[in-house]
Amino acid sequence: MAKKKITKVIKLQVPGGAATPAPPIGTVLGPAGINIGEFVNQFNQKTQDKRGDIIRVELTVYEDRTFDFVMKQPPASRILLKLLGKDKGSGKTPSVKAGTLTKAQLKEAAEKKMSDLNTTDVEQAMKVMAGTARSMGIDIKEQRHRSFMERFALHTASNEPKEHIHRYNLETIPGTDKKQWRCAVRNCNKTLPFNGEHFPPSP
Ligand SMILES: [Zn+2]
Repeated sequence: MAKKKITKVIKLQVPGGAATPAPPIGTVLGPAGINIGEFVNQFNQKTQDKRGDIIRVELTVYEDRTFDFVMKQPPASRILLKLLGKDKGSGKTPSVKAGTLTKAQLKEAAEKKMSDLNTTDVEQAMKVMAGTARSMGIDIKEQRHRSFMERFALHTASNEPKEHIHRYNLETIPGTDKKQWRCAVRNCNKTLPFNGEHFPPSP
């Protein structure tokens, strides 16, 4: 498109697939002198699959009264509310505890919003979305059930010794010439005094 002089940039929030030339859209676009019907048709065509979403539009009007527009993602709060299954646009104040989302849902929201956030880093986008969620009273939970292998790995990595029967080995107490019995089971530090026994103490 040749460079045309921009006369106006208009920001709108328009229901997906359901724009009409009536107010409030007509009220805002009327003074810009563009063909409102043309905008409505183009917009509705592009957003057929986004019915129920409020779509933010940035509309550029040129000197010759032609226009083009780009669509932005819904506000972060709306994306989060939709994932919560709450009715968006209900007018409810989000200061009330809104609910809980999983980390995976937070990621989904972040990926959707990323194009608006000036970042290609999902982690960064997630941080932004988490901040919005927090301000809305939405909790983010891991909420993923760990697999058996994960739980097993966590268990063995923990410092708690597993339940076991002590198995004593004789060791020299560091820095002395004395000896003591020490349980050889991983993470068990149980010791018993050595009194010249020929066999390890019974467990
Ligand atoms: Zn032990």
